[in-house]
Amino acid sequence: MAGEEASDSKVSLRTFLEHLSGAGKAIGVLTSGGDAQGMNAAVRAVVRMGIYVGAKVYFIYEGYQGMVDGGSNIVEADWESVSSILQVGGTIIGSARCKAFRTREGRLKAACNLVQRGITNLCVIGGDGSLTGANIFRKEWSGLLEELAQHGEIDKEQVQKHAYLNVVGMVGSIDNDFCGTDMTIGTDSALHRIIEVVDAIMTTAQSHQRTFVLEVMGRHCGYLALVSALACGADWVFLPESPPEEGWQENMCIKLSENRARKKRLNIIIVAEGAIDTQNKPITSEQIKELVVTQLGYDTRVTILGHVQRGGTPSAFDRILASRMGVEAVVALLQATPETPACVVSLSGNQAVRLPLVECVQMTQDVQKAMDERRFKDAVRLRGRSFETNLNTYKRLAIKFPDDQIVKSNCNVAVINVGAPAAGMNAAVRSAVRVGIADGHKMLAIYDGFEGFAKGQVKEIGWGDVGGWTGQGGSILGTKRTLPGKFLEDIAQQMRTHSINALLIIGGFEAYLGLLELSAARDKYEEFCVPMVMVPATVSNNVPGSDFSIGADTALNTITDAFESSLLLAKAREQHREFCVPVCVLPTTISNSVPGTELSLGCDTSLNAVMETCDRIKQSASGTKRRVFIIETMGGYCGYLANMGALAAGADAAYIFEEPFDIRDLQSNVEHLTEKMKTTIQRGLVLRNESCSENYTTDFIYQLYSEEGKGVFDCRKNVLGHMQQGGAPSPFDRNFGTKISARAMQWISMKLKESPGKGKRFVTDDSICVLGISKRNLFFQPVTELKKETDFEHRIPKEQWWLKLRPLMKILAKYEASYEVSDSGQLEHVHHRGHEEPAAI
Ligand code: ADP
Ligand code: ADP
Repeated sequence: MAGEEASDSKVSLRTFLEHLSGAGKAIGVLTSGGDAQGMNAAVRAVVRMGIYVGAKVYFIYEGYQGMVDGGSNIVEADWESVSSILQVGGTIIGSARCKAFRTREGRLKAACNLVQRGITNLCVIGGDGSLTGANIFRKEWSGLLEELAQHGEIDKEQVQKHAYLNVVGMVGSIDNDFCGTDMTIGTDSALHRIIEVVDAIMTTAQSHQRTFVLEVMGRHCGYLALVSALACGADWVFLPESPPEEGWQENMCIKLSENRARKKRLNIIIVAEGAIDTQNKPITSEQIKELVVTQLGYDTRVTILGHVQRGGTPSAFDRILASRMGVEAVVALLQATPETPACVVSLSGNQAVRLPLVECVQMTQDVQKAMDERRFKDAVRLRGRSFETNLNTYKRLAIKFPDDQIVKSNCNVAVINVGAPAAGMNAAVRSAVRVGIADGHKMLAIYDGFEGFAKGQVKEIGWGDVGGWTGQGGSILGTKRTLPGKFLEDIAQQMRTHSINALLIIGGFEAYLGLLELSAARDKYEEFCVPMVMVPATVSNNVPGSDFSIGADTALNTITDAFESSLLLAKAREQHREFCVPVCVLPTTISNSVPGTELSLGCDTSLNAVMETCDRIKQSASGTKRRVFIIETMGGYCGYLANMGALAAGADAAYIFEEPFDIRDLQSNVEHLTEKMKTTIQRGLVLRNESCSENYTTDFIYQLYSEEGKGVFDCRKNVLGHMQQGGAPSPFDRNFGTKISARAMQWISMKLKESPGKGKRFVTDDSICVLGISKRNLFFQPVTELKKETDFEHRIPKEQWWLKLRPLMKILAKYEASYEVSDSGQLEHVHHRGHEEPAAI
C-alpha cells in the first residue's frame, strides 16, 4: 500500500493503463430478462472498473426497452451512483422484456441512441435470450449505422468512428441454465432462499409426520431442483433433463415408505417447475401430492416457491462472482478487436474464463432440443460436467440398494473430523458414509478427533445414521485439535483392533499436520500403510493444496450478514424511536450448534444495542449519523475471510497478515474514508483479520478511526467469534462437502480395489493425499509434496490465489491499485465433453 508498494503499484498501474486504456471509450451496461440477485454487484463492478480505466460508463435503464427509447433511459453513471447497491437484490437499473428489440426497426433506434452517445461497448447482464439479442445486434451494427446515415440521422464520420460494436455478456439467471458456465449470477442466492425454506420446514415439521412437495423455479433447467435436493438430502427429485423411469410412481412410493420405516419423519420431494416424464408430459406438484395421498395416505403439503427465489439479499458467493465477472467484462471489452466475437465471461471451477457467446447459446439450445427429442442422456451431458456430477452424486446418496445387492469389499473405512468445527463437515461425513456403504465397505465413525481415536471411540455407522446431516452445523462426530503425534502407538493399536483399511480425514490445518505425522510414521507403524486422504474443512481456508475448504463459504455469509444486521438496526433506529431499546440482532445463521463455544455475535450485538441506546439518549435530536463499522474476522494468520468478506460486503479496507501494513497505510485509509464520508456516502466498513498485526489490534484500529473521524463519523466494532464456524451450512458448503467427500471415497475404493486380498501395504506417497480444488479441477496431492508449499509458522499456504483479488477490492473501494484481472484473457471454446475429471464445484 504505502511506501515502496505504492510506487510499485503506480508503475504497474501505468503499464496496465498503457495497454488497456479506456480513455475515449464509452461502455453501456444493461440488465435484461428476469432479474437475479447479484446483478447489482455486476453493475457496480462494471461502472467502477470502467471509470477506473478512464472510460465513460452509461446506465441503460429497463433493459433493451431503454436502449430503444433512449432519452433519459441512457444516463452516464458516476462513482457514487453505484454506492451501497452491493447488498441489494434485483437490479437498480431495471430489467424488462422488450418486443421492439426483437425487430430490426427497434434495433435501428437502439443503435441510433448508442451512436449519439458514442457508446460502442456493450455489457449485457441477462439470460440466453438477452445475450442472443445482443449478438444479433452486434452482427447487424454496421448495417444499422449505414441505414441511419442514409436517413440522415447520423453522419458518415460517425459511421466510421463507431464502426464496431463490442459485446460482452454476463449471465444473470437464477436457473443456472446457461451452458459453458459453472455458476450464473443469482443461482447461489436462489439456493439460499430455497434452503432457508427447507430448513424452516425441517424444524417445524419434525414434530409431525409429513411429506413436503417443494416446487422450485426452472422451466427448462433442473439445476436449482437438483442442487437443492443434494443440499437437503431430499427423498426424490423431478428434473426436466432426467425424467423418472416408467413406473416411477410405484418406485417413489416404495422409497417414501422405506424412508418412513427407517424413522424418517419428514419426506421431501423437490420438483422443478418444468419437470416432465419420459414422454415429455409435465409432472406437476399437485399430481405428486395426489399420488402420495392416495397411495400412502400421508399428510402431504405442496409449497411453490415462486418469486421468493429471486428475492432477498445476494449471497457472498454471488457478490464475489458478480464483482469478479464485472471487472473481467470491462477488461474483455477493452481488449476486444473488430475480429473478437461477442463473448461471455464466466466461471469454470474457480477460474474466470471467456467463451464465445454464440457457442454457449448454441449449446444451451441444444439441451432444449435434446429434451424435446427425448434424448435425455444427451441433455444431461450437454448441461455440463457440474450438472452431471451433481446428478450422479445425488443418485448415489439418495438411493440405497438393498444389502444383498451390494458387493461386499470386506474393507473397513474410517471417517474422522479433526480441528475446529466448520459448517459442511457433517454433509461431508454423510456423503462419505453412504458412498462407502454403496461401494461395499463397512464404515466406521471415529468420535472426538485423534484423541477419541486413541481412546478407542470407534463405532460402525450406517446409512440411516447420517440421515438429515447435510443441514446441521458444527461437527456431529465431534472434533478436537489434538494431533496424532503423541498417540501414535494407541492409534496404531486402534487401527489394528478395528482392521481399518483406509482413512478419510475431514478437517483443517490440524488435519493436514496430522496427515503429515501419520505419513512420517508409516516407517514405524505398518498400520498406517493404508490409503489415507483428507478433504479440507475449515472456515479459515488455509489448507495447502486447495483453493477452497468446506465451511469458508458459510463463514463469509456470516460476515456479510453480520454487517447488514448491524446496518439495518442502525437504520431502523434512525427512523423509529421504538427500536432504541436493547435489541438482539442475530443474522440468519443463529443456530450455533457448535458444542462448547461461546456464542458471540448475538451477545455482542445486544451489548452494542445497549450501548447504542445510551448513545441515542445522549444524542437525542442529532440528524443522520455517518458510521464506520470495524469488524474482526477469524482465520488465524490467513486473511481469506477478511479479504473475501470485504469484497462481498463492499468494504473500504481489509487488514490482513499477508499484506503487511504500517501506520502510513492506516492513516491513508482513515483519510480516504473521511473524504468519502464527506460525500453522500454514509457508511463505512473496515475488516480486520484477527492476527493481521500484533500491535494494531481491533481496539487500536477502532480508536484510531474514532479519533480521526470525530465530527465526520462515529465507529462501531464487532468481533465475530466462533459463530463463523457454526450455524446452518450454506448451500455451497453442503454441496461442496458432499461432492468432495464422495470423490474422496471413490478414490479410496479404487485404491482398495487395486489391492484385493488383505495385507497390501501402501507405502508410496500417492496413497496419502490431500484432495483439493485448484482452478478448475479436483486433485489428489501427496501430502508430503505439499510441505514445500506450506508456511508452517503461520499455518498458511505460501501461495494463496485470492491475494490476486485484493486489488479488485481496492479498486471497487476507490483506491488506485494495479489489477491484472484475467486468469486467461484468451477466448476459449465450449467443450463437448468426453471423459474428464468430474466438476470440482
Ligand atoms: P459500496 O462499497 O457500497 O459499493 P462505496 O464504495 O461508494 O459503495 O461506499 C459506500 C460506503 O458504504 C462504503 O464506505 C462502504 O463501506 C459502505 N457500505 C458497504 N456496504 C454497505 C451496505 N451493505 N450498506 C450500507 N453501506 C455499505
Ligand atoms: P432471458 O435473457 O432471461 O433469457 P428473454 O428471453 O425474455 O430473457 O429475453 C430478454 C429480452 O432480450 C427480450 O425481451 C428481447 O428484448 C431480447 N431478446 C431475446 N431474444 C432475442 C432475439 N432473438 N433477438 C433480439 N432480441 C432478443
